[in-house]
Order: sequence, then C-alpha cells, then structure tokens
Amino acid sequence: MPACDGPTIVVKDHYQLVIIGAGPTGLSAARVAADHGVDVALLDEQPAPGGQIYRAMESIPPARAGLLGDEYQHGRKIVSSFRQCNVDYLSDTQVWSLNSKREIGLLQGDEPLMITADQVLLASGAMERPVPFPGWTLPGVMNAGAGQILFKSHGIVPNDGVVLAGSGPLLLLLAWQYMHAGVKIQALLDLTPMRNHLRALPRLPRALMARHYLAKGLVYKKDLKRAGISTLHNVSDLHATGNDHISSVSFRHRGRQRSIETELLLVHFGLIPNAHLSRAAGCEYQWDRSQQCWRPELDDWGSSSIDGILIAGDGAGIGGARTAEHAGRLSALQATYALGIIDKYERDQLSRDDRKWMHDDLHIRPFLESFFHIPRKLLSVPDDDTIVCRCEEVTAGEIRMAVADGHSDSNQVKFLTRCGMGPCQGRQCAEAVAHIVAAAGGEKVAQGGHYRGRPPVAPLTLGQLASLYPEETE
Ligand SMILES: Cc1cc2nc3c(=O)[nH]c(=O)nc-3n(C[C@H](O)[C@H](O)[C@H](O)COP(=O)(O)OP(=O)(O)OC[C@H]3O[C@@H](n4cnc5c(N)ncnc54)[C@H](O)[C@@H]3O)c2cc1C
Repeated sequence: MPACDGPTIVVKDHYQLVIIGAGPTGLSAARVAADHGVDVALLDEQPAPGGQIYRAMESIPPARAGLLGDEYQHGRKIVSSFRQCNVDYLSDTQVWSLNSKREIGLLQGDEPLMITADQVLLASGAMERPVPFPGWTLPGVMNAGAGQILFKSHGIVPNDGVVLAGSGPLLLLLAWQYMHAGVKIQALLDLTPMRNHLRALPRLPRALMARHYLAKGLVYKKDLKRAGISTLHNVSDLHATGNDHISSVSFRHRGRQRSIETELLLVHFGLIPNAHLSRAAGCEYQWDRSQQCWRPELDDWGSSSIDGILIAGDGAGIGGARTAEHAGRLSALQATYALGIIDKYERDQLSRDDRKWMHDDLHIRPFLESFFHIPRKLLSVPDDDTIVCRCEEVTAGEIRMAVADGHSDSNQVKFLTRCGMGPCQGRQCAEAVAHIVAAAGGEKVAQGGHYRGRPPVAPLTLGQLASLYPEETE
C-alpha cells in the first residue's frame, strides 16, 4: 500500500473507524476517537484539514485570515488539536464509493484502493443548493462558495467587479469578506421574498436565545451599508445574459425590469447535505420541509439506517460549523461505544456538554430556515428553456414533457431524458428535477423521490477500476 500525507503513513487494509471529511465534524470526531485509542483513518479530498469553513487554515497568510472574520479564526484551535492526535490522516484522497458492508473505495492521485472499517463516519459536509435559472450555465456565472474557495485558498478575488445574487447567510458573509478585501461589489441582489420576514417572525423569540448569530448578521448588513454597497431586496426573475460569456444580469425590483452589466455573477441559494456517498451506500433519507432538502434518517448519535455507518455535521442536515463540531464528537463517542471500547454509561456522560452546546446553538435554525426559505416557484424552474442538467443539456421543458407523458418520479425522468447521467452524476440537477417533477405532477417533493445513489460518486476510469481486481481481468 502506498504512503500518504508524508512518508510515514502506510494505508492499512482495515481500520476500526474511517472518517470521511476533515471539516469541523471529522476533525473533532477524529480527536475524540483517537483519545480513546481507536484505530482511525481520516480521509479528505482536500490537501489540508479544515473543510469548507476552515479551508487553508494552516497556510493562509495572517492578513488574509484577518479578512475572513472571527468564526474562521476559531478553526485554528480545532485544526491544531487534531494535528496532535494519532490518526492516519489521508489528505488529497477522494472517496468514490461506500457500500453497506463498509467497503470504501479511495483514489489517491491516480491510484485506486479499497479499505474496510468496523465503523464509518460520514462527515462530508454540505454543498450549495443548485438552482437553475436562465443563463446559469454561461461562463462567468459561478456559485458564491466557489468565489469564497478561491479567496480562502489562493487570495484570488474578482478584479473588475462582481454582482452577488441569491439568498442565504453565506451570500451576506461573502459580500462582507469581499468588502474588506476591497472588491468592487456592483450590487448585492437579495432574492429573499419580503413575505419571508413575516414567515420568520414567530421563530424570532427562540432565535434570540442564539442572538450572537443575529447580531453578526446585523453587523454585516450595517458594514455593507456604511461602505455604500448597493443592496436590492425582494429581487425576482434573475437572468444572466450574454453570448459565450455573461455580459449582464437582469432582474425585477420594485415592479421594474432592471439590468446591470457585469462579467461575473456569483449566486447562492443556501446549502443542502452532501449525500452522494450515503445514498450510494443505501442509507434511508427523508424530506425535510423546513430545510427544503432530503436528510438522512438518523438517531440522535448520528447512526444511519445501515449498521456501522454514522453521519454527522452538515451532511446530516444543515446545522452550521459549531453544531458540526459537537455532532462529530457525539458520533465518535457512539462509534467508540459500538467498538466496545467504552460502555453506555461513559458514552452518555461524555456526551452531556456536547448535547447541551448543540441544543443552544440550534435555536437559531428555525428562524434562518424560515427567513431564507427559497420560493417553490424558483426551485421548480419556471422557464421551459432553462437547462437543468448541464452535462446532458436537458431543459426544464423536456422534464415537464416527460412528466406529462406519465413519468411521475425523478428516476423515471432520468431514465427517459438522460438528465443526471452525465459526468456530475446528478449533483447539479437532482434537486431541481425533484422540484420540477413534483410541481408538474401536483405532488409533494417527497413523493417524486430523488435519483438513486450509485457508485462511483466521483469520476473513475475503467482502468483504475480494473486495477483493483487484477486476477479477474487477466
Ligand atoms: C462552499 C462552502 C463554503 C462555506 N463557507 C462557510 C463559511 O465561510 N462560514 C461558515 O460558517 N460556514 C460555511 N459553510 C458552511 C460550512 O461548510 C459548515 O457549516 C461546516 O463547515 C460544516 O462542517 P462539516 O465538517 O460538516 O463539513 P465540511 O466543513 O464541509 O467538511 C467536509 C469535508 O469532506 C470532504 N469531502 C466531501 N466528500 C468527500 C469525498 N467523497 N471524498 C473525500 N473527501 C470528501 C470535503 O472536501 C470537506 O473537506 C460553507 C459551505 C460550503 C458548501
């Protein structure tokens, strides 16, 4: 087996616990499990620990780190605590498969490997919710998260101005970070409907119990206003236009059609759990109306419907980085208990502070989920000509035609239209297809279902696959 993360680590065939994802969930879980003497491997596709929020924590220049805000600084403690524990940390390692027998397919560079584990913790985080709108496939239209990744990892920011559009806390955070980095923000287009203010109001008293989040949001807004950044609220009908590159963004605001010339549009419509591996393994999922996404069926330790597979952090449902940290610790305690290393009493005692922390932290969520609720109309892609599956170039109109022909679930539509069968394997279109199918058939989203998960969840060549089973291919 090849060495990994420096010459000292030789990947074993089997571990007691394999953790997938080195964000706050996976790092905290690894520390707890390793402290109990568990034989742990932590796998992550990134070159360094930190996950999405604490990306590039160990290499970022202090001046850039200072622009990212207090929450980013908190990650320093988590990453350095992790570095002190005895874990096989395999960076630059893509996991392309997981099955119900806890067999895990990895790719290190070009080399595929299979390992097994007694317990697997999926700590693979969230992804930005893809929402197709006219022009979203044009070069120059990207996710806000991608803009933030370039900034955190390489200090790359837009040179010639940017329009930010969508709805959700990450959009506001990125605007604030860009503002401090001196980026010219041409406009911040807030697609949060005004009616959401009323929708969220009953959840405000509970949110006040986690008021530091509200305070932070208000500071971001105040700073952006003071810096003269134009924020337009209650925007709708977002379009990107251009020939082979975006040249302008148009939208409706206060009953008027408006347009802004730009070379770069960054969009964000909230986060959804990254579910590719858990779906491939066959974990059960349920529709969460409040979060407007599917989330895995879990008990309060993160145990999934499959024995020995746990899911924690944003991959279990969006709870934010602090909750992720504590959820990772809880799942690590459960895995340690399942391995027979601690007993039930010890597990329960050790989990008390984390449970209390999570309970307090999660007070903010119902408010955020109501406030940033994405309108159904937007999710179900009203314009027939909009491409939904960018790999196979299938439009919303073609999907609606398939529904009109009697195909009333996502998998039938996939089979008929080929949407979701391209290289991204449905990452970009699965959610939209589910919404379109539901709206066109007059059903609830849960009824139309979701694409079935299949390995590989990341691109793998036939040669790489065959090299895992040399005796069968001779
Ligand atoms: C693009 C993006 C940017 C974000 N930025 C912020 C922010 O600035 N501030 C904030 O408060 N919240 C941010 N969030 C939300 C934030 O991710 C979480 O609240 C928090 O990081 C969740 O922690 P986690 O450990 O569950 O997942 P993550 O931090 O997302 O960590 C998951 C890790 O798993 C790895 N992974 C996933 N799949 C595989 C695979 N198949 N093989 C190998 N590795 C894999 C990922 O590369 C990642 O390193 C962001 C989310 C996204 C999607």
